[in-house]
Amino acid sequence: MARFFSSAILLGTLLLEACASPAPSPTAAAPAAPVSTAVAAPMAVPPGAVSPAPVPAVPAGSHYDPLETFARLTLPDPVNSMRAGDGSPGPQYWQNRADYTIHARLIPDKKELHGTEVITYTNNSPQTLDCLWVQLDQNIYRADSRSAAQGVGRPAGGQPRLPVSATTTNGDELDSVEVETAGHTTRADYVVSDTRMQVRLATPLKPHSSLHLHIAYHYTVPGVWGGRTAWAPSKNGEIFDIAQWYPRMAVFDDLRGWDTLPYLGSEFYLEYGNFDYYVTVPANMLVAASGELVNPREVLTAAQVERLEQARHSDKTVMIRGPEAVNDPASRPRSSGELTWHFKMTNTRDVAFAASRAFVWDAARINLPDGKSALAMSVYPVESAGAQDWARSTEYFKNAVENFSRRWYPYPYPAAINVAGPTSGMEYPGMAFDGAETKGKNLFWLSAHEIGHTWFPMIVGFNERRDTWMDEGFNTFIDVYESVDFNRGEFAPKRDSEYAGGGGNPVEEIQSVLKDPGAPILLTNSDEFLRKYGHTVSYFKSALGLVLLREQILGPERFDFAFRKFIRDWAYKHPSPSDFFRAMDSTGGEDLAWFWRGWYFNNWNVDFAVAKVLYMDGDPAKGAMVTVASLDRLVLPVTVQIDYADGTHRRVKLPAETWMQQRQAEIQLEGGPAITAVTVDPDQVIPDENRGNNILKAPFAAAAGHD
Ligand SMILES: [Zn+2]
Repeated sequence: MARFFSSAILLGTLLLEACASPAPSPTAAAPAAPVSTAVAAPMAVPPGAVSPAPVPAVPAGSHYDPLETFARLTLPDPVNSMRAGDGSPGPQYWQNRADYTIHARLIPDKKELHGTEVITYTNNSPQTLDCLWVQLDQNIYRADSRSAAQGVGRPAGGQPRLPVSATTTNGDELDSVEVETAGHTTRADYVVSDTRMQVRLATPLKPHSSLHLHIAYHYTVPGVWGGRTAWAPSKNGEIFDIAQWYPRMAVFDDLRGWDTLPYLGSEFYLEYGNFDYYVTVPANMLVAASGELVNPREVLTAAQVERLEQARHSDKTVMIRGPEAVNDPASRPRSSGELTWHFKMTNTRDVAFAASRAFVWDAARINLPDGKSALAMSVYPVESAGAQDWARSTEYFKNAVENFSRRWYPYPYPAAINVAGPTSGMEYPGMAFDGAETKGKNLFWLSAHEIGHTWFPMIVGFNERRDTWMDEGFNTFIDVYESVDFNRGEFAPKRDSEYAGGGGNPVEEIQSVLKDPGAPILLTNSDEFLRKYGHTVSYFKSALGLVLLREQILGPERFDFAFRKFIRDWAYKHPSPSDFFRAMDSTGGEDLAWFWRGWYFNNWNVDFAVAKVLYMDGDPAKGAMVTVASLDRLVLPVTVQIDYADGTHRRVKLPAETWMQQRQAEIQLEGGPAITAVTVDPDQVIPDENRGNNILKAPFAAAAGHD
């Protein structure tokens, strides 16, 4: 029987953890009887007993090949002076800049928005630009848009949708486009193609220089069918959610030059800059907007200004305009004519606003690291003001912003505003449109998610139009912990349409994706995601990947340090997927090619199995060997639990490297009581496609004739 030990792989001391007996508490002290004080030492091989190296065993039905799983991985974007090998911006990283001054007038009766803007565009690239590309997002609503041709949003079964005229607009109508360089303003030479406008420059824009683009435009605000931007009636007046409301620069970057993907419905990729903007609306409307209100004394009553000041010092929600005041003319500085609301936001990639005469408005202080603060606010119609509904929205925003700031990166903006309106679940910097009908725990989850987007992609400027798994998945990941943090887990664990929608164990629910041959991989282009896989793959699978990375692969200490550094390094910049993978490899301290390949570049599954348990000389007192097999193409660090007849147990952790040269691993155990069962992944914390082979119970087959 000594021979059987000779072919075993001797596991190093670091793999063996002292067991907890009987409860698996990590703080439990001494191991119980069967594990000697030498628990961490591998069993010695009797001298002279080493036989020739055996041919690696291939367990029956195994799809696992170490050479495939652990092969080198070439990431899509190369390392260069722009993007460093450690996943941080390189020494010559550059990024162009767009600053905006906008004057907009909302005409509610006509459902029109009229605007004039000056875009100051700065070319920080080493290239001279012969043209600029500008995004005209409202053109997605034109009947002849590329999006319409895709049939997105059309009912299934070949049925015609509503009449074309009822669900389309003329898009962005350009009244004038002018280019100002060196004090000269000339009419622009431009071409519009779907949701993009190319402006051809008479004088090319040299490196490290800037120009001003003057655009006058108007468009019709879509109805509820507009999705991310819309107007709709409410009991006390219409609510306008206004977004994608000004022509804005496309991104020119080092990866592709101009990134001109049309707006087909996937989200955005935008340059950073400062916004100085003015919104003129009828005097009876309230405006909630990204950034900071510059002129409160011109657009609010003295009492409301005073209450806002109270809210800046209050952890409890303060009513700025209560439900009883919504129809009270005294709740506005004046009731006729128009008022212009002036907002500023610095270092942002976008701004949005909402306007309505129906808004109730409340606010509370957000406590930020280093003694800083910001203002959490909510606006909602009276019909949404239920005590467990929008009346708690500001509490949700305050808590989420405080926890995201504490855990990941400090919130940089003066306010965070939640808007109840026709648009449900859409994010803008420091602001969310969250659906007037959303209630209860779903409002908590939705609110945390949408304000979480201020971290991804508003601070960390992901390219949402290409990589929806990054903004949605990273955000859903931080939301998982916000559910734990909020009010001692009042809404924990997060189980909604974004994360383990069936309400069960996420590593079990993900099997429906891993076992679906039609499911797209995470690195699928945003526009190619079929709607049915949007939440299960780009939100759930992506977030679960980060949970596995944090909890099972790196551990929270190493993960959090690396993840925070990644956020800090790329705040207000444009990281690619490759930058993220490199950042976690380098600062996390592992070559994770096997995980990136299996989870992000493929939909590979895990299947560990307990193959056999053998006693030395058939006697438990002399020792035992447990064989664990890897049967599918993804591996993960995994725990193996050995249960003994005296009620104690021990645990052994197998790192991913266990599988670099073998398809089955042998764990040698000191002698002790008889083993009653061996279980791989006893806590069910990693995905495993077949739990049926994860446990082997006594009696065990004898060794004879076996290999
Ligand atoms: Zn989202």
